[in-house]
Amino acid sequence: MSAQLPPQVKRVIDEALRKVDWQGFDKEKVNAIINELLGKLDSVQVHFIEDCVGCAACAPACPYYPVSEEYGPVEKAEHVRHMYRKEATILGKLLGPLLNAKKPSKPEHLDKLVELVYRCTNCGACYVSCPFGIDSGALIRGFLAPLVSKAGRLPAVLAIFEAMERTGVYMDIPAFQQIWRDVNAKIDQALGKPVPRDRKGAEYLLFLDLSDAMFYPGAVVGAAKILDRAGLDWTLPSSPLGFRPPIGAVVGFSDSTKQVLKQIDDYVESIGAKYLVVLDGGFVYPWLRWQMPKVLGKKLSYRVLHITELVVELLKQGRIKLKPTNDAVTWHDPCQLARRSGVTKEPVEALRAASKGFRLLPHHGAESYCCGGGGGIGCLSLHMIEMMAKMIGVDMSVMISSEKEKEFLVKTQEAWSIAVKRKIDDIKKSKAKIVVTACPVCMHSIEGGAKLYGLDIEVKHFAEYIAERLA
Ligand code: SF4
Ligand code: SF4
Repeated sequence: MSAQLPPQVKRVIDEALRKVDWQGFDKEKVNAIINELLGKLDSVQVHFIEDCVGCAACAPACPYYPVSEEYGPVEKAEHVRHMYRKEATILGKLLGPLLNAKKPSKPEHLDKLVELVYRCTNCGACYVSCPFGIDSGALIRGFLAPLVSKAGRLPAVLAIFEAMERTGVYMDIPAFQQIWRDVNAKIDQALGKPVPRDRKGAEYLLFLDLSDAMFYPGAVVGAAKILDRAGLDWTLPSSPLGFRPPIGAVVGFSDSTKQVLKQIDDYVESIGAKYLVVLDGGFVYPWLRWQMPKVLGKKLSYRVLHITELVVELLKQGRIKLKPTNDAVTWHDPCQLARRSGVTKEPVEALRAASKGFRLLPHHGAESYCCGGGGGIGCLSLHMIEMMAKMIGVDMSVMISSEKEKEFLVKTQEAWSIAVKRKIDDIKKSKAKIVVTACPVCMHSIEGGAKLYGLDIEVKHFAEYIAERLA
């Protein structure tokens, strides 16, 4: 590790890496984790486990099914059923393997489970296509992800970012401080005045995390222009409200998730805002909007709004106006915003107002194709890990714990390159030249997929695209 690294950052990285183990298998520990997870199942999850009839109607919906049949939704979720039968049913206890009632018992079993976890983006497409509303993604994310992570099969890069976000030390890293300073300077420059940060009593609070500033600074500046142009009473945080919170939810660490969400809620409460405006339509939005009240056990005193929802409202009220163009533009629905949160009409309405050349993708709204990069998969490319290692100031060997983990990462990247193709083909059919979306992972995945399959398109965040068309 670099000698330049601030000691508190080094400590947190060391702590994170102690949780990573791609070799071992501790049977007692694995059993204890399984029992803990089974003990927490609620009636909805039990329905997901018990009521699948194996019709496979969900399989074609899954972005990872074309990679291999073993990555079909049921094939992945079936591993949860194996453990459930073994521990929670009398017949399973008595007849064991005859009923496919079994638990992981060797290192290879954990290796298979971690592979399956990172062949699921939690996109919800299987849930929407299942006649019984069975959400295999929820089982994979809610059961298999915490199982493998707590057992040590945890990508080091995710372990490090989870720990850095939870402790806040990511903002002790000079490259991250610079990114935050740069975007803040751009906001003040674009508005021609310093915007008061952390202003108590502001009605609207623009939620910003470091990933917003890092992956689409133009959208952050664009959102500030929209709020300002609409004449809203608004503010923004002086420090990022997380790296991309809650990262703990991606790897299945519920304590970390709760801690990070509590910090956010405390901050929003301290401002007293009525609306929290979010740019990230990936997992950040549903975690703030839908999961946070459940996790914190309270009704939020503010409404979480995605920027697409706010823009439509501002257009309706006549508080902003757009100069429409003829761009051949389309909208890619981030799965977490569309299928997991029901925000499908607003982006389309706003983009229709922004361009006469707007067209829907052949598969859109609840039937939209996933970009293949969610569920942490987008962070697992060697290119992304190298970029993060450089920014933090550590060697790649810190971010990838072993040769075995590296092989997993390479295989995951190969699987993504197949999973993304269906999305790229859908965009090709639309003949769009600009793809607007609202999630850093979707943007990265679609850009990467377009390059891979020779499609010449521009990918933009919604807030940046709309701000460019403000009248
Ligand atoms: S949530 Fe999406 S990626 Fe996961 S199993 Fe279902 S369809 Fe496949
Ligand atoms: S569509 Fe539903 S019932 Fe049929 S295999 Fe998939 S999860 Fe099971």
